[in-house]
Amino acid sequence: MNKEELWQAVLAQIQLSTSRANFATWFHNTKIISEDNDEILISVPNSFSKEWLSNKYHNSILKIIRSLNKNIRAINYVVNLEKPKKIERSKYHEKENKLEINQLGFDNFEISQKTNLNPRYTFDNFIIGSFNETAHAAAWAVSENPGFDYNPLFVYGGVGLGKTHLLEAVGNKILENFSKKKIVYAPAERFTSKIVTAIREHKIEELKTELRNIDVLIMDDIQFIAGKEKTQEEFFHIFNALRETNKQIILSSDRPPKAIPALEERLRSRFEGGMIMDIGIPDFETRMAILKAKCEEKNIELRADVLEYIVSNIQKNIRELEGALNRLLIFNKMNNVSPDIEITKKLLQSLVNFPARSTNYKKIVQTVSQFYDLKKDDLLATTRRKEIVKPRQIAMYLLRSELKESYPSIGRKFGGKDHTTAIYACEKIAREIENDLNLTNDVNLIKQRIYSGTI
Ligand code: ADP
Ligand code: MG
Repeated sequence: MNKEELWQAVLAQIQLSTSRANFATWFHNTKIISEDNDEILISVPNSFSKEWLSNKYHNSILKIIRSLNKNIRAINYVVNLEKPKKIERSKYHEKENKLEINQLGFDNFEISQKTNLNPRYTFDNFIIGSFNETAHAAAWAVSENPGFDYNPLFVYGGVGLGKTHLLEAVGNKILENFSKKKIVYAPAERFTSKIVTAIREHKIEELKTELRNIDVLIMDDIQFIAGKEKTQEEFFHIFNALRETNKQIILSSDRPPKAIPALEERLRSRFEGGMIMDIGIPDFETRMAILKAKCEEKNIELRADVLEYIVSNIQKNIRELEGALNRLLIFNKMNNVSPDIEITKKLLQSLVNFPARSTNYKKIVQTVSQFYDLKKDDLLATTRRKEIVKPRQIAMYLLRSELKESYPSIGRKFGGKDHTTAIYACEKIAREIENDLNLTNDVNLIKQRIYSGTI
């Protein structure tokens, strides 16, 4: 048995005792790269799968391998150092990184005209941790068998946590697996403006026919169609036409379907009829794994205390983590020395202090009212309308938990209510959060927005 056959045999057995999703997540892109006497070296795509395999699967792998070849005594794992294929440089610049890209000669990627996919986003450079592993596994399964298992696939989570990356990775992978399939990636905002233009120019039927011919429709940030009735109506028909013919639909949003205000009921129930996956917030170890992977990618070595400083201070947004790294990278290029901790603190000052962990009354009220699609004044007034009472209590709760405001002051802000009303509201929400998963979800998403600096 050569090493390829040996590994195939191991995988075949592992597959039997692992869920399809887990198998896809942890074993894709693995192989045996050397078999020396009694030791085997397995290559894995990134440091996270290395950790995962050596901690969670090591014993099973060893057992299976030893059942196939008794001489083997040790297994080691190594992160595959082959760089992914270089992609042609192009004129395309990502807005946010424009300066860095130019100065540092980063690889640029060409967005495909046909699919609108950015080849930069792949599964290979997507790091998996407990915060995103189920979403990743579902996405991977869809890329292997589009149109069947999870349709639609609906991924939600806070800003900068990898939704777009994951959605585009599915698109790119499907393109690789099934070169004939027609794939379209569209941010929902752009989709909306296309619909509006088509209606104005009386070309809506043409647009619909065009969209019905797609095999895989990826619609990013679907929350943007909230309140846009005409767009929702057209999308509903397109959705049904695609779904009926087993075409794959993949959606992302910053919140679950039931928390998108002003979304037509029939669309909501369509979304909920598929697979809904959330992306949470990466824990310390995962943030470290992501940062290290990005350092490898960008070819920069940072000192341990610097890595730790970044990971401890930037917690809720992977895009900001990359932003921090880019700043250090520029410093490194310009001065030819790796920044020490003092320099790092200075360079990252604005990222770490603002907006990472600061908020205020205005921001909380604004975020809560936007989240529930309410007017700010309604939230602050005394109306007892049911759809307003709960969001108002949540806003009060957040003023208490995030700003440590006093109860009398909270009461005053919300229509001059007595401090006992404020206490009641805060305690009620605190209690309900313990038992009500939907509420916990909403509050977490609101908090993410409060601190993500998007408002
Ligand atoms: P979102 O769409 O949720 O706002 P993005 O997909 O745009 O977030 O991700 C923000 C940045 O972080 C991107 O540059 C992306 O490549 C990177 N990123 C997000 N998640 C991961 C991950 N799991 N592994 C590696 N990079 C990631
Ligand atoms: Mg996005």
